Amino acid sequence: MATHHHIALIPGDGIGREVTPAACAVLDAVGARHGIRFSYDEFDWSCARYRELGAMMPADGLDRLRHHDAIFLGAVGDPGVPDHISLWGLLIPIRRGFRQYVNLRPIKVFEGVPSPVRGAEPGVVDFVVVRENVEGEYSEIGGRLNRGFPEEMAVQEAVFTRAGVTRVLEYAFTLAGSRRGRVTSATKSNGIVHTLPFWDELVAETAVGHPAVGWEQEHIDALCAKIVLEPARFDVIVGSNLFGDILSDLAAAVAGGIGLAPAANLNPEREFPSMFEPVHGSAPDIAGRGIANPLGAIWTAALMLEHLGHVEAASTVEGALVEVLAGTGIRTPDLGGTASTEEFTKALLEFVR
Ligand code: ATP
Ligand code: MG
Repeated sequence: MATHHHIALIPGDGIGREVTPAACAVLDAVGARHGIRFSYDEFDWSCARYRELGAMMPADGLDRLRHHDAIFLGAVGDPGVPDHISLWGLLIPIRRGFRQYVNLRPIKVFEGVPSPVRGAEPGVVDFVVVRENVEGEYSEIGGRLNRGFPEEMAVQEAVFTRAGVTRVLEYAFTLAGSRRGRVTSATKSNGIVHTLPFWDELVAETAVGHPAVGWEQEHIDALCAKIVLEPARFDVIVGSNLFGDILSDLAAAVAGGIGLAPAANLNPEREFPSMFEPVHGSAPDIAGRGIANPLGAIWTAALMLEHLGHVEAASTVEGALVEVLAGTGIRTPDLGGTASTEEFTKALLEFVR
């Protein structure tokens, strides 16, 4: 197992620039304890760069990332730059270019972080959302017709391929096999009559190869309700690009806040670097004040450690998160505390070392 890793850092915008150093401090500390060394190449790719130079990243951006062991991204976004610029100018090209077809978003309720949902207790709510990350509803196919006329219309196509759906389902079923053995597939094949019935068929086909894994499918509307009413029943939830996106924000809220939620964009075959980014955005409303919760970014760093093969180091970080939340009252303001990003990170580092 490699003990030196070359990481591409894209802090991005807003609080992305504040939580990324926190994640690196934790990586360095856990690395010192477990004999792993990290070197970082930092890239200023962001909406700020877009404002200055007209592009989120340079034309050869993917080539500059290609030879790193992993990519860590803080957040990109800017109230003055339309969301589709940051999505299509950076996130989607990286996800697609590096075939990061799995977006993995673990959800846990921690002791000391109250969930807004009744009965959502620590140790009981522990599931993973697996989101299809490169096709589905996020497509460029479609158009606008008859602009300005009474007959004006918009058409948007969703793309579901056998290969693209099957590989993410395989990932979800295999993951469930290493956990509590249960897959819930998000669908809406009663209303969407072509793509999602195809998705459902592929779920049933994939399940045949995983006889030890139980599975069910739920329509997305009912599934949203069940995540709020019975979050403890889930193990692995798998959904299309759009459904997975919505479910992971919902699930993060159940766990007590979007500032806690980690995410990994994985290329499971390791042909290309995978990208690790917390679920939250650039949070322009609190950016620059040093009060962002670094927990999501730090947990994201733990996912990166696991992907790089350092399972023990990853569990050191997760253990430190559990201990700082359960054993100290140190919290950032989004969790009702008064600690700064730096104070919380410092407290956490005590448990890492
Ligand atoms: P973007 O356009 O970059 O997605 P956004 O405002 O749409 O940004 P988020 O950045 O996720 O979405 O912010 C949503 C809300 O959650 C904001 O009020 C923000 O302050 C809060 N928030 C998000 N992440 C954190 C964090 N790490 N710590 C504290 N508050 C956070
Ligand atoms: Mg947003």
